[in-house]
Amino acid sequence: MEPPVPGPPRPGGADLHLHSHLSDGVHPPRAVMERSAAAGLSTVALTDHDSTEGLATANDAARRLGLRLIPGIELSCAHEGHGGLHLLAWFIDPGHAGLGARLDRLLEARRERFGLILEALGRAGVHLDPDATRARAGGRAIGRPHIAAALVAAGFARHPQDAFDRWLKVGRPGFVRLERLAAAEAIDTVHAAGGVTGLAHPGLGVTDDVIEALARLGLAALEVDHPAHAAETRRHYRALAERLGLVATGGSDFHDEERGEAVGSERVTDATLAALEARRR
Ligand SMILES: [Zn+2]
Ligand SMILES: [Zn+2]
Repeated sequence: MEPPVPGPPRPGGADLHLHSHLSDGVHPPRAVMERSAAAGLSTVALTDHDSTEGLATANDAARRLGLRLIPGIELSCAHEGHGGLHLLAWFIDPGHAGLGARLDRLLEARRERFGLILEALGRAGVHLDPDATRARAGGRAIGRPHIAAALVAAGFARHPQDAFDRWLKVGRPGFVRLERLAAAEAIDTVHAAGGVTGLAHPGLGVTDDVIEALARLGLAALEVDHPAHAAETRRHYRALAERLGLVATGGSDFHDEERGEAVGSERVTDATLAALEARRR
């Protein structure tokens, strides 16, 4: 008798941090779900930056593949002068009116900043065609990477980082500050939409006192397991999460294999997922 052919490994668990091409990932939601199933995950959260656009198609694909999809988002926030905070939210109702209105305002702020950056560059003698530059975003949220690409194409910079260094970063002629969502408002908005929040990749420049302040504002989780975190960093944040009563979560922050990332490279257990879900109010 032939021995049974072993199937693909099914390690299970949940990857709580994934991006599609609706934000800065490269794959459509369906392809991200296919990778999730191939990685043997049982549950995934799609967490595109400031967008819930991919959730409906992701959910259809997840259902076909026997995966549980947690509707999520990654919100760019600031807290009292500390910018660059990324708040993950899970279990949100994507159709919630208050959340939708807030996301629309963020998109509008991005559009306004886009116009202001092009004006500022124009005053510095750098003229970019607004329509051609906007077209680089392909209908998605317009951001500085699209302007950087246009600067490179027009010969004003050698590569995208050079475009940031010469023209777009703080102190350069094309720098315009983006109006940031306050973390307190983000946390409240997510609660209103039925979800819970967790701070993404704290090891990328967030101080512990800011995390403590966010915990007081109702933060539920801390992303301890992230590809950018070394073992020592994980130990530090696991202890901090324990001390602050936060659920220690993890996720691959997948955008693209070309960057060396893999769906399911970080995953949480069903018990952690249940603890997170229990924080919904
Ligand atoms: Zn992030
Ligand atoms: Zn992310």
